Amino acid sequence: MSQSVCILGVTGSIGQSTLKVLQQHPEKYSVFAVTAHSRILELVEICKQYRPKVVVVPSSQVKELQQYFHDQCLTDIEILTDEAGLIAVAEHADVDVVMAAIVGAAGLLPTLAAVKAGKRVLLANKEALVMSGDIMMQAAHDYHAELLPVDSEHNAIFQCLPVGYFQAERNGQPKQGVSRILLTASGGPFLNHSLEQLQSVTPAQACKHPNWSMGQKISVDSATLMNKGLELIEACHLFAISEQFVTVVVHPQSIIHSMVQYVDGSTLAQMGNPDMCTPIAHALAWPERIQTHVPALNLFANQQLDFQEPDTLRFPALKLARQAMQTGGLAPAILNAANEIAVAAFLKNDIGFTEISQVVEQTLNQVEGGAAESIERILQVDQMARSAAQQIVINKGS
Ligand code: NAD
Ligand code: MG
Repeated sequence: MSQSVCILGVTGSIGQSTLKVLQQHPEKYSVFAVTAHSRILELVEICKQYRPKVVVVPSSQVKELQQYFHDQCLTDIEILTDEAGLIAVAEHADVDVVMAAIVGAAGLLPTLAAVKAGKRVLLANKEALVMSGDIMMQAAHDYHAELLPVDSEHNAIFQCLPVGYFQAERNGQPKQGVSRILLTASGGPFLNHSLEQLQSVTPAQACKHPNWSMGQKISVDSATLMNKGLELIEACHLFAISEQFVTVVVHPQSIIHSMVQYVDGSTLAQMGNPDMCTPIAHALAWPERIQTHVPALNLFANQQLDFQEPDTLRFPALKLARQAMQTGGLAPAILNAANEIAVAAFLKNDIGFTEISQVVEQTLNQVEGGAAESIERILQVDQMARSAAQQIVINKGS
């Protein structure tokens, strides 16, 4: 039977790659719902092609969308709005698979709703897991959701872990013969920049990733290495392993997408051309495999694979994220909120590139953490951290 898919964030980079994979397998998957925050014209084009039953947009965009739907004879598509609409489609009884591809904290409640409805959840929205950590993982367990990683590194790790890994106790210790996770990082566009050069890089330069084409926010995160910091936290939660067993390895070619080491001296790696269609297809079809348009890796064309240690002096964001994971509780949520504010400020040229991690560090020092006892508390502290970070940004400009 065909699987019914809901794509949260369909107009984004991951949303588009998801459609590319689905398009190749119309007999296996149908699109039930799609959501977008902007780019309404692109959304209409998607609706024309995939004919979803429901779309979700901000209420401010409904009039415009209705007009387009009327012009294109798409009035049979139901329009829902705002966060309530996102949650409604994520937990909808007719949905089997939810692609969580909204960027940032805005994806938290819809992703959690999908998990609590026991869906197969393809997790791209790493910020949601960084913020909610144990609560999200506990909900996945309690509601029998299949929370499968789409982030290429975590998908690679998932592929390299032993059968039975997820049945073992979640106690932070390596288990089932696993000794360590090697999380690879491309190093981003400024891998070889000096500290001085980093001070004057522009948003356009930061958004130009050498290997991956991605949304603006994750592109900047990749350039500061905060993306790897968020991914470190993501890995700890997904694989129930404490941060001391996760080593970040800079691998500029992005051919190896991450590795798992075992107690017998084995290191397993997952490799492939850098294209998100591979991890998306893997998570969609798991445990089966489906075809994508991604060409097989030609090792003769990629003669060299390099590895180096990350430099946390030039890229302090990685260290901040590791410290936040060590601190635990609300610290990762504070880190994430401050980073979202700082990245937005950098993209508007309000602060410089190296000031992004300064804003994050100062916010972590200012905002009281404590236990992440509920989603309400996490959202409250997320707001407090955003206000604090915004004030730090303003002070830097004056
Ligand atoms: P993007 O900016 O290209 O797309 C984001 C999507 O979310 C868009 O559809 C947008 O309309 C929607 N959105 C934005 N703000 C929203 C809001 N407030 N409410 C509701 N919807 C909103 O981002 P992307 O690169 O596709 O990344 C999406 C997520 O996947 C991020 O969490 C990112 O870290 C993760 N991810 C992306 C890649 C990649 O290659 N692009 C790889 C791994 C993980
Ligand atoms: Mg990644």
